[in-house]
Amino acid sequence: MQFVLVSSCLLGNPVRYDGRAVPRGDAVLSRWLEEGRVVAVCPEMAGGLPVPRPPAEIEPGRVADAVLAGLARVMAVTGDDVTAPFVRGAREALATARERGIRVAVLKEGSPSCGGNYVYDGHFAGQRLPGAGVTAQLLRSAGLQVFSEHQWAEARACLDALDADDAR
Ligand code: SF4
Repeated sequence: MQFVLVSSCLLGNPVRYDGRAVPRGDAVLSRWLEEGRVVAVCPEMAGGLPVPRPPAEIEPGRVADAVLAGLARVMAVTGDDVTAPFVRGAREALATARERGIRVAVLKEGSPSCGGNYVYDGHFAGQRLPGAGVTAQLLRSAGLQVFSEHQWAEARACLDALDADDAR
């Protein structure tokens, strides 16, 4: 049985920067929880950041790959450089995935760590940009399929296909 990595805040855990969770409720997630497949990760907490914490964004004009290569920073709205905990948390998430042989992740969209399809532009003005957060990018580079909380059906299809392959 394939396990699946899921952002902790999508499981109802109050770990977001503002101390809140994301409301749960998807049937796919409920089924995975019943099946014992879900492995929760919060990269920002794993990297050592507290709850609550100031919001952070990848600095303007840069992308997650550059952060992972040490060529760009993640900045908190306070002006603090939080690159190190973001990168540490991403590596922790990847280590967790590797320990469990995980090939699929469902991560919180828009987050500078977990966002899979868009992030914010670094000006803290709510402007989205196509791109990924630091953890989502690292997991994808390592070959995981990364989905968002808007793609439960796609994630389920992917996981079912992997299960079917394993059963052959
Ligand atoms: Fe943690 Fe990712 Fe959720 Fe942010 S989006 S609170 S890093 S699990």
